[in-house]
Amino acid sequence: MPVHDFVLRGGRVIDPSQGIDRVADVAFTDGQVAMVGEGLKGRTERDVAGNIVTPGLIDLHTHVYDGGTSLGVNPEAFARRSAVTTMIDTGSAGPGNFAGFRDHVIKRSKPRILAYLNISFAGIYAFSKRVSVGESGDHRLMAPIDTVDVADKNRDVIVGIKVRVGRNASGEQGVIPLQIARQAAERLGMSMMVHIDEPPPTLDEVLALMRPGDVLTHCFRPFPNTPATADGKVEPYVLAARERGIIFDIGHGMGSFAFRTARTMLEREFMPDCISSDVHTLSIEGPAFDLLTTMSKFICLGMPMNEVIRAATENPANALKRPELGTFRQGGVGDASVLSLDDGKFDYVDAVGEHLEGKSRLSARGLVIGGEWLDAP
Ligand SMILES: [Zn+2]
Repeated sequence: MPVHDFVLRGGRVIDPSQGIDRVADVAFTDGQVAMVGEGLKGRTERDVAGNIVTPGLIDLHTHVYDGGTSLGVNPEAFARRSAVTTMIDTGSAGPGNFAGFRDHVIKRSKPRILAYLNISFAGIYAFSKRVSVGESGDHRLMAPIDTVDVADKNRDVIVGIKVRVGRNASGEQGVIPLQIARQAAERLGMSMMVHIDEPPPTLDEVLALMRPGDVLTHCFRPFPNTPATADGKVEPYVLAARERGIIFDIGHGMGSFAFRTARTMLEREFMPDCISSDVHTLSIEGPAFDLLTTMSKFICLGMPMNEVIRAATENPANALKRPELGTFRQGGVGDASVLSLDDGKFDYVDAVGEHLEGKSRLSARGLVIGGEWLDAP
């Protein structure tokens, strides 16, 4: 029997990508997943009995250009607190300031950071309590040529193009930034992540411009531009968009997730493809807090546990076209998240101030990155 570099022993292993949900060991060698099995031997081992062990969690929507943008949070502190091994920064940086993000933040971070590059030249440059200027509100900031150039030169970390449209983000410009982002994404052969806030533009106008494989974030928004109708159905153009292959991502954030919307969508068996936090400086102290809190809300709303984990492992990996992430398949990246699932009475709040008393809470016990253990704070 081979001796592996590192073994997580005796946890409840949940890997939706392989249909695994059983007590087992997970072994890592050379920074990769070696195998899931019983009685595995490692040079170092950690007993995780009583905990849940998942492939390294992926948070598809974060803001971690720490220090370079006003909305950036510290990636390492956030990753440890939320047992996240891969964070996708979505549009904090544009082509005008991506080099600093890469050199000063991405390179130095132990947890993996990938990025959607903003189509707007300086990314999200003015986002705070007192100063808020949407980066898509002035067409002089649209930078398709630079975006294609920078994204093409950084394909190891840039996974797609981010564009934000809505009254707050794009002001008078409506869908024009989305049309420009789509041109850049097509030129690059990359997907887009599209943010929506209040109209204009409307949700159906936005979905009409999206292609299969593009990600709609803030997909369970409150009214307006919400996917659920007043009489408890899913908007037909939302159903049609899923049919076409648009990916639906939560992106909780400060103002972009409502229990009321989620209840309707789940009652209609419309689960989100991806669950993400949209942490930034104005959402990390609530209402989003982190990825595990956002996942816990879905467990409390009745979404099956394994589907919640799928929405933070296998599904975002597919959205990123990075099959080596979010799985314990042999040869996958050697990442894991170790969680505890506690029962009790927990108070949750959404982005419009509705409270939910839930019976479950996930919290971080630790994470494995490239086969190495990191403690939760
Ligand atoms: Zn965001």
